[in-house]
Amino acid sequence: MNAKKLSERLRTVASFVEENTILADIGSDHAYLPCFLVHEGVITKAIAGEVVKGPFESAQKQVMSEGLQENIDVRFGNGLAVISEEDNVQTITIAGMGGPLIASILETGKEKLTKVETLILQPNIHAKAIREWAIQEHWKIENEVILEEHDKIYEILVLKKGMMSLSEKELLVGPVLGEEKSPVFQKKWNTELNEWQRIVNELNKLEGTEVQQKKEELENKIALVKEIL
Ligand code: SAM
Repeated sequence: MNAKKLSERLRTVASFVEENTILADIGSDHAYLPCFLVHEGVITKAIAGEVVKGPFESAQKQVMSEGLQENIDVRFGNGLAVISEEDNVQTITIAGMGGPLIASILETGKEKLTKVETLILQPNIHAKAIREWAIQEHWKIENEVILEEHDKIYEILVLKKGMMSLSEKELLVGPVLGEEKSPVFQKKWNTELNEWQRIVNELNKLEGTEVQQKKEELENKIALVKEIL
C-alpha cells in the first residue's frame, strides 16, 4: 500500500469523502489517506493527526516526499486535540482502530465537532461502541459498508448529524448491514456465533454467578444474531 495505491479498506473510506471538503484524518500513520485524496483531486486541504512519534514522523516524511506540505498539515497530538475551530474541518476520518477507542476519541474531543458535518469511521472490531456513542451524541448512520481484505473483515460507518434510534440487533450488527445481509456480513456473524457457542460450551462446564451471567449474555447475543442470519 502507498499513497497512490490504497488498500481496498482505505479506498472505501476515501470514497465517502466529499469533494472539496476540509478533512482531518486522525490516527493517520503514513498519511496515505489524505495524500491519496489530494492526488485524486478530491480535496485540497487536510490535517493528519498522530499521537505516536514514529507514525507522526512517517506521515511528515510521506507528505514531504510527495510535495504536499501546502495541502496537508501533519500535527502531533491526541485525537481531536490537533484541530481547532479555525481549521473549519468538515469531515473527520478515523480508521484502523477498535470501535471503543474511536468512540473515546470522539467523546473526549466532542467540543471540536460542532461544525463537523461528516464522520467516516472504520473500526476493526466492536463497531457497536460507535453506534452507542452516535445515538448518545446525536449523530445518525447515513451509510455502512462491510468488506473483507486479506482474511480480515472491516466495517465502515458514515455518520451525519441527527437523531436515530436503534434496536439491540441494529446496535450490534448495524442497521444498514443487517438489512443487506451480504455474504461478508454472514461470514462475520457466523464466525462470531461459532466462537460464542464454543465459549458457552466451555462455560457449561463451570459454576458460579459470574459464569452464569456471562453465559446468559452470550446466549442472548447468539439468539439475536440467529434471528438476523
Ligand atoms: N488510519 C491508518 C489506517 O487506517 O491505515 C492507520 C491505522 S493505525 C493501525 C492506527 C494509528 O492511530 C496509529 O498510527 C496510532 O498511533 C494512531 N492513534 C491511536 N490512538 C490515537 C489517538 N488517540 N490520537 C491520534 N492517533 C492515534
